This record gives sequence, C-alpha cells and structure tokens, in this order.
Amino acid sequence: MAKKIAIFNQKGGVGKTTTVINLANALSQKGEKVLICDTDPQANSTSGIGFETGEVEKSIYDSLIGTSTPKDVVQKTNYENLHILPSNIDLAGVEVELANQKRREFKLKDVLKELDSYYNYIIIDCPPSLGLLTVNALGAADSIIIPIQSEYYSLEGVSQLLYTINQVKNSINHSLRIEGVLLTMVDNRTNLSAQIAADVRSYFKKLVYNTVIPRNVRLAEAPSFKQTILEY
Ligand code: ATP
Ligand code: MG
Repeated sequence: MAKKIAIFNQKGGVGKTTTVINLANALSQKGEKVLICDTDPQANSTSGIGFETGEVEKSIYDSLIGTSTPKDVVQKTNYENLHILPSNIDLAGVEVELANQKRREFKLKDVLKELDSYYNYIIIDCPPSLGLLTVNALGAADSIIIPIQSEYYSLEGVSQLLYTINQVKNSINHSLRIEGVLLTMVDNRTNLSAQIAADVRSYFKKLVYNTVIPRNVRLAEAPSFKQTILEY
C-alpha cells in the first residue's frame, strides 16, 4: 500500500506545488514508485511536470465523477517511476457536480484505493481553498505536510488550517496526522525570515523539518521549462 501524503495549506502561493513536484521526483529517483495526484483545477503540478494542460484529455475529474477508471486517467511522466493523475480545468466544476452525491467526501479515497498497490508513495497537491476538493484530499491522505512560506506573516492562517485538519480528522479520516511542517522560500539574509522560522518552530515544535527550502530563482524557473529542480 502506498503512503499517501497531502501537501496542504489553504493559503495560496506558499510552495505546495513546488514541494509536490520535487518531493515526488526526489523519491522516484531513489527508486520509489510515486504517483502525483493533482487535485487543483489550476493544474500547476500537471503542467510543471511536463504536460500541456489543454491537451490533457482525461483528468482526475473523470475518475472522480466516474466516467473513467483511475487506471485510464493515470499518465506516465518523463521521469522514471513517476506517474501522475493529471488535472485540468474540468476539475473546477467538480464541487458543484458532486454536491448532492452520497459519499462525496470520499471520492478521491475511492479513486486512490484502486491505485494504491502500484505505488510506494502518492503525493497529493491541494488547491488553495477549503472546499470539497481539499476535503477529498485530506480524506484520502494518511498524513499532511504543511509548507509555510517564510517571507510573509504566515502563522496568520494557521489556526484555520489546524481547525480544518481537526474537522476532517474528527469526521471522515480519524487516522490523519501531520507528517511535518516545511519552511519554504527561506531567505537567511532577512530578519523577517529568521523571525518567522523561529515563530513556526516555537508553535509546531518538533514537527518542523530541520531542512528548509531556500528562496531560489531556479525553483521558480524550473516549471516553465517543464522540469523538476533536480533535472533543471
Ligand atoms: P497555489 O496555492 O496557487 O497552488 P502553491 O502553494 O502551490 O500555490 P507554488 O506554486 O509552489 O505555491 O509556488 C508559488 C510561486 O513561488 C511559484 O511561482 C513558484 O515557482 C515560486 N516558488 C516556490 N518555491 C520557491 C522557492 N523556494 N524559491 C523561489 N520561488 C519559489
Ligand atoms: Mg499549487
């Protein structure tokens, strides 16, 4: 069974997708079989890993509403051991379409159940929202990595984030846990970055990874070349 990790923070632009693409690629390079699951209608991890999203014919949308089997939607990427359940703009309509369905919070869990046995890791990219797609992502995950941008007063949204995680935990996914908190876009030259890192560490304690992701323009450039940072 795959270990399923959701990369989640409802705040936009904190480094979720960058973490998804590069964590998935790093694991796949170590020989792990990895599936990226793109649950964001923006489809940034789909395009960042090499797809033209306008050319994605079957997307995760089709597997969520049941018009395609999960296996028919999965695509190989240019990277060995790394597959993707791609997203496209169709996904933007799924919350409305699922609104009146039974088990609507469990659609992604059901989809991933069919793919579980082929992979060691499934890394789930979440949209920057707290809607049904996010609930599905958290409902399907074993654990969560929370990226926190170190350049902005990021603890602002944290109580909302923890509230959401607890809601999901108490209702649909009792074993959900926080895997770790990842400081992203760290700029060691600024006091602000250091202050935020200190605040996050005093708040989340041992959950914060010792490893931090520095602000580096290469990380921002890589997706436009449809490459992971390891390749770029
Ligand atoms: P959204 O909430 O919109 O899905 P996100 O949380 O997935 O955003 P990313 O798309 O990973 O965030 O990152 C936001 C922007 O910051 C992107 O342009 C990305 O290339 C850039 N970026 C991410 N991490 C870094 C970094 N460590 N250094 C420099 N730029 C970065
Ligand atoms: Mg993103």
